[in-house]
Amino acid sequence: MTRPLPTHVGALVVGSGFAGLASAVRLSQAGHQVAVLEKGQDVGGTWRVNTYPACACDVPSHLYSFSFAPNPSWSRTFSPQPEIFAYLRQVADDFGVRDKTWFGTEVLAAAWDGAAQRWAVRTTAGDLTADVLVLGTGGLSEPVAPKVPGLETFRGTVFHSATWDHDHDLTGERVAVIGTGASAIQFAPEVAKLASRLTVFQRTAPWILPRRDRAISRLERALFKAVPAAQKLARAGIYSVRESWILGFAVRPAVMKAAEAQARRLLAKQVSDPELRAKVTPDYRLGCKRVLLSNTWYPMLAQPHVDLVTDRIVEVTQSAVVTVDGQGRRAEHEVDTLLLGTGFSVTDPPIAHRLRGTDGRTLAEHWAAGGMSAYHGLTIPGFPNLFLLTGPNTGLGHTSIVYIIERQVEHVVKALQAMAAAGVRSIAPRSDVRAAYNADVQRRLQGTVWNAGGCSSWYLDANGRNTTLWPSFSFAYAKELEEFRLEEYETA
Ligand code: NAP
Repeated sequence: MTRPLPTHVGALVVGSGFAGLASAVRLSQAGHQVAVLEKGQDVGGTWRVNTYPACACDVPSHLYSFSFAPNPSWSRTFSPQPEIFAYLRQVADDFGVRDKTWFGTEVLAAAWDGAAQRWAVRTTAGDLTADVLVLGTGGLSEPVAPKVPGLETFRGTVFHSATWDHDHDLTGERVAVIGTGASAIQFAPEVAKLASRLTVFQRTAPWILPRRDRAISRLERALFKAVPAAQKLARAGIYSVRESWILGFAVRPAVMKAAEAQARRLLAKQVSDPELRAKVTPDYRLGCKRVLLSNTWYPMLAQPHVDLVTDRIVEVTQSAVVTVDGQGRRAEHEVDTLLLGTGFSVTDPPIAHRLRGTDGRTLAEHWAAGGMSAYHGLTIPGFPNLFLLTGPNTGLGHTSIVYIIERQVEHVVKALQAMAAAGVRSIAPRSDVRAAYNADVQRRLQGTVWNAGGCSSWYLDANGRNTTLWPSFSFAYAKELEEFRLEEYETA
């Protein structure tokens, strides 16, 4: 039997991935009454949803985990998805989050009620109100299918990397993969082991660096367990190395030439066919798109039963993907199954269409003209007592988002403390404060490789503005959040 929702809650957390779990844990510890709404049937967020073959994280686990819940038992430097999912489930158990969570409950709409100074929330399991809304809804949660005419007419099987159909056997099939991003480069080499023919459709060649993944030895694990300081040291070491990447990404993109040379060496070593080599050589600066790590991608493409097609996809028919080359020649690629590694809707998040602020308009309407923006990427003028974790310009191209999430959650705790101390019931950042902050972030992004590296990516919105990434070191973001300054907010 499902528990009824509470009618009112102090802090309502939406989502139970890394962001939702950290919020639930820390807000509870700070003495707040917390309820978590999770649309799925378990915690884990993106690590519950993405189950495609070989799904793993390319940030080392000793850093890609909570500082308050170290796991000395990580089996590999880059943990596979089942292990990260298991870790998050363990965290939920250890910190008592499940008791506070309503599973199978999706937020349909939330509107700020100015008279009552609270959020009125409509969910698939009924209505409730909340003093504070903390959104851990994630930036990479809404799968996107390519806008290709005829895709809906395809008679074979189609699924996205984020909705993998494990009941579908790919053995002996003619399979197509659309996309060559972080997801596709992980699952396609696994698909190639099963398929009789694999056709990979590449729109933009990715930069690929060697994947330095290794098993963490029993001895190392025993050490981390017996001496927690050793694991802290390992974490700090990984953090420092990753932070140094910012020198290339944001300070002096020309530094990336050294990394490009390393990527080219991998390519030269793994691909001997000059035609294939030309096709997979990127024509923009490394780092402009997310840097991919793989030792298996190029060897997979070099296999005789794998084709790499770089011609433009113009149509999907009942049984084929149709491309047109530079001379206008059409080719039909017959396939049984179509796998979409085509990414997520990042710059137009679905939750923004479900939130209504003080003026009754949705957050998506607020953002329609200028793109996503928030103060500290976390709070939004006209949307009181709303905290959007991993919001605009808080993404990272170089290190662990878990670090950012923890800093944000601490800031939420400080905000609620400041409100209580000042005796105010609601806060929303002043428009001028948000505008100045955002102008500064946009200015700092100008020379970075993400903006100036000569590519298009999901970091940029439809107007070419980078509304996703933080422009600097992650510790610089942490510094921004160290203090909560009530005078920067409108209060009631
Ligand atoms: P993605 O990076 O957005 O890649 C989508 C791919 O689909 C791109 O290669 C894109 O080509 C291609 N594409 C999209 N529409 C197309 C069309 N109409 N025709 C042809 N190609 C099309 O998505 P993702 O691979 O799912 O990764 C998303 C993010 O999730 C990553 O950047 C990363 O932050 C995270 N992630 C991390 C890991 C990890 O830790 N290892 C693994 C998976 C995902 P273009 O490049 O030309 O746009």
